[in-house]
Amino acid sequence: MTKVRHVLGISGGKDSAALALYLRDLYPNLNIEYYTSDTGRELDETYALIERLKSALGRDITEIKSIENNNTNAESNFDHFLELYGGYLPSSMARWCTKKLKLEPFEDYIGEEPTISYVGIRGDEDREGYISKKSNVQSIFPFRENIWSEDVIKKMLSNQNIEQIQSLYREVLSTNELESAIPYLSKKLGLNFTQKQKLEALLRIGVKSFNKVVFQFLKTTDYPVGKLDSFPLIENEDIIRLDDVFQILEESGVGAPGYYKKLEYEVEIDGEIKKGIYARSRSGCFFCFYQQKIEWVWLLEQHPQLFEKAMTYEVDGYTWMQEETLEELAQPERVIAIKKEHYLRTHRTQSKFANNWQDDILEAEGVGCASCFI
Ligand code: SF4
Repeated sequence: MTKVRHVLGISGGKDSAALALYLRDLYPNLNIEYYTSDTGRELDETYALIERLKSALGRDITEIKSIENNNTNAESNFDHFLELYGGYLPSSMARWCTKKLKLEPFEDYIGEEPTISYVGIRGDEDREGYISKKSNVQSIFPFRENIWSEDVIKKMLSNQNIEQIQSLYREVLSTNELESAIPYLSKKLGLNFTQKQKLEALLRIGVKSFNKVVFQFLKTTDYPVGKLDSFPLIENEDIIRLDDVFQILEESGVGAPGYYKKLEYEVEIDGEIKKGIYARSRSGCFFCFYQQKIEWVWLLEQHPQLFEKAMTYEVDGYTWMQEETLEELAQPERVIAIKKEHYLRTHRTQSKFANNWQDDILEAEGVGCASCFI
């Protein structure tokens, strides 16, 4: 039997930590390797979470290196690449940091062995996450109802495989079940029946039966999961959402990353002092360009030395945000304006939704980088 590696990247964020704990508890025989790739510019709270997770798992977390020889003598891995890029700061349009500090080191670490990479994208998120371009790496999403990646679904549900999939379904469904499934199985994808609709219809017929069929289908391909004799996750029907993630972290004793701690700020609005709540919404570098303005204010007030450090990178016209420098953002009147805007926006949302405590996190997760924040 071909050896297949199982790996899980620990970003220092809540979701990858919860996934490691979840898989350890439910699938202790998977023999998962944990790894992390450190930019050298994370928050202390992130490093603390990784240490707590190591103790809870009773396992080491391999640090994969983005540089073998720091020939620039830079202070951190991030600074090393920044020097090579001539001080050009990364941005959402030019995200060299993720490529150099996360993706390329991951692909080197994996090499050529067939590998299953477990990714903590949750059931309440609508994003796909990073899928390796390497054909020997397959991503699996255990927290979602559909645990398979987009490329697998696309291949399996393509019109040319209709007969093969029907025949695989015959082996897992009873005659009655098959009768209700046939209209969907035989219907071709097109403008009136999209891949998403077909996927949802098949999941409604049965998550386990769908997974069993995908597993058998993968055996006819080169995907790593297809090389396994059995794959216990095909029996899994759980959907793990944001509050489940916090519960997993609390129950394990690992707890949520410290930067989620909600802190009060005061701001005057129409002559009245109002109390708002702020926190950082994700892991990643303390200067990450994906953070919201209120998170920059949080950094300024809660980690003033890190804010100052972030300012030192803004030289030669390079800035972390397009519309203002950190020096401008740190002006007292600008801080007040950002707090006011944040207070009013979050309180408008609160009047509409009961579970607003999750909104900031969910909103922040809509943009960003799955490699750094999961
Ligand atoms: S956290 Fe942000 S700045 Fe750091 S590597 Fe990821 S995308 Fe780049």
